[in-house]
Amino acid sequence: MEFEPVTNIKGVGAETAETLKELGIHHVQDLLMYFPFRYEDFRLKDIVETPHNEQVTIEARVESVPVVFFMGKNKSRLQVSVLTGRHIVKVVFFNQHYLKERLTPGTIITVSGKWNRARQTITASSVKFGPKEQSQDFEPVYRLKGNLHQNRFRKFMRQALDLAKGELPENLPREIRERYKLLSIDEALEGIHFPKDANHLKQARRRFVYEELLMFQLRIQALRKTRKENEKGIAIQYDLKKLKEFIGQIPFELTNAQKRVVNEICRDLKSPYRMNRLLQGDVGSGKTIVAAIALYACVTAGYQGALMAPTEILAEQHFASLESLFQPAGVNIALLTGSTKTKERKQILERLEKGEIQVIIGTHALIQPDVVFHQLGFVITDEQHRFGVEQRRILRDKGMHPDVLFMTATPIPRTLAITTFGEMDVSVIDELPAGRKQIETHWLKKEQFHACLAKMETELKKGRQAYVICPLIEESEKIDVQNAVEVYEQLRGMFQGRFEVGLMHGRLPSEEKDQVMRAFKDGKIHVLVSTTVVEVGVNVPNASFMLIYDADRFGLAQLHQLRGRVGRGDYQSYCVLLANPKSEEGIERMKSMTELADGFRLAEKDLELRGPGDFFGKRQSGLPEFKLADLVHDYRVLEVARDDAAKLVYDEKFWRDEEYKYLRKMLEESGALSGERID
Ligand code: ADP
Ligand code: MG
Repeated sequence: MEFEPVTNIKGVGAETAETLKELGIHHVQDLLMYFPFRYEDFRLKDIVETPHNEQVTIEARVESVPVVFFMGKNKSRLQVSVLTGRHIVKVVFFNQHYLKERLTPGTIITVSGKWNRARQTITASSVKFGPKEQSQDFEPVYRLKGNLHQNRFRKFMRQALDLAKGELPENLPREIRERYKLLSIDEALEGIHFPKDANHLKQARRRFVYEELLMFQLRIQALRKTRKENEKGIAIQYDLKKLKEFIGQIPFELTNAQKRVVNEICRDLKSPYRMNRLLQGDVGSGKTIVAAIALYACVTAGYQGALMAPTEILAEQHFASLESLFQPAGVNIALLTGSTKTKERKQILERLEKGEIQVIIGTHALIQPDVVFHQLGFVITDEQHRFGVEQRRILRDKGMHPDVLFMTATPIPRTLAITTFGEMDVSVIDELPAGRKQIETHWLKKEQFHACLAKMETELKKGRQAYVICPLIEESEKIDVQNAVEVYEQLRGMFQGRFEVGLMHGRLPSEEKDQVMRAFKDGKIHVLVSTTVVEVGVNVPNASFMLIYDADRFGLAQLHQLRGRVGRGDYQSYCVLLANPKSEEGIERMKSMTELADGFRLAEKDLELRGPGDFFGKRQSGLPEFKLADLVHDYRVLEVARDDAAKLVYDEKFWRDEEYKYLRKMLEESGALSGERID
């Protein structure tokens, strides 16, 4: 049944079959799985509550003898008064004068059309005689091509449904359907195409959303399982006593979230499976210390650890903080970047190969072919979204099967974490160290620029530093954004002889970028005008002020990242968003920034406002396309599906029972069982 060609449907000839093919419909089953993208809503509405110009369907009794006007050849206008509820309204039909005979006073009709509130008139698009039947509440509307029209397509669908009834395989086992009270495949197909009523449609949708998300999660969970079984990792037997001593000499108490995350990572290190874990933590939540503890654990077991950062500045920053922690503990640590001098580099490589260097921090320089480890056990990559899959793989392959931890300060909403990082374990530091001062965030209109500068100057006079963020570096005809170079010139003129202004953007050679950044760190530059290149991880605790130009051009997640560059020291810090947003959504984003400090809540908000596609940026989103499921609205189902899938792949009956045959087949076809997909 399922693979019958569509031409078996009455009315589908060779030509129509071609058009259907363009829609991806080859077999009857494809047709059935071609879902409407919306529905015409014919539910009865109270005319009094219907807004002007809206579609409405009413049941009414004809009250007057229709009047017909002819307006030239084949053109007519028929008008009749009807009673609906307690209201008399007019109904107008164009070019259907023949209805006059049937619209005799007293006749009950169901009429749909556009409601003109001012004129108390419905311009009818359809009329049925007699009271309304519930089965006509919704009419499916499909995305179609060519000369295929809705009515014809609906007829094909009707036939297909009748043909398929009782013949289609049920993908979902009874046990699951009963647990969640899901419709059977037949009922659900009927409900998605020709729902009896609103509830039928809802239940049909519920079934298909669950099915879709379960299939998706089964692939991820099966992949995880296959990996765990096939990849031999290293069991890193760290020295708990030493580790506790190390933690004991850290100058502050770990937050509960840090403790929990350290435990999760250490458990992974000790297990013989390969760690594949994502560590998420808002800016300033203290990820570095967690990384240090994990690296130290690895060292006590006699393995080497590596930490890879996306820029030299970040690598240096990590090196500086880890060195001060590791020195007292007697750990040999080295820094390797593109600017490491040849002679020094040679030395480092030798010592690394012998195993004398226990922890190495670096940039891409760590993945050059001549970098050889003695016994690499653990790799951490910071801000993993900046690294390509390939680079991570190369580094991993340098070890035997090192454990891998990805750190990111980009809070990823739960639902996206489940979908995009579903194959990873996720640890979250969801708590900031106590006593942090909240960054005061203000939203100003561009006209208030001078007030903003005055505030900045106050901070500069106190000896603080400031960031000024501009969206683009060059004038663009298409978008009217501030030009970083222009802003730089302007501020330089204004602060001449008083404060140093620096410029930083992505087009600068990386050496120059580093120089500028270093000068800012050292306090030689007071105001840094920059594009978003400062976004990630840079730590200048003396900076207490940030101005973001055209802030409405950024997403919430990015604004939050930027804002995290200030408030890193003991000073009260400020962030001013300069923006005249044009859209409601832009206004909403500016408000959210002034109200919310928590990166995760902002990320959820961002997702809600912009949808999953825009959250990561369209091209790199890596988000799966779903037919019905919507990650924002259906995330609870997603969580349920994930838990179910995670259990199923370890359940014998899943691999054995007839009922699970279709799910197994789908898994086989997806390649998840052979572990083909890498990252
Ligand atoms: P991020 O997660 O943004 O990388 P860092 O690791 O750079 O955060 O930590 C930010 C600052 O907070 C650092 O100066 C660090 O020493 C400090 N810090 C980290 N954990 C704690 C803690 N539990 N208590 C107090 N300060 C902490
Ligand atoms: Mg960090």
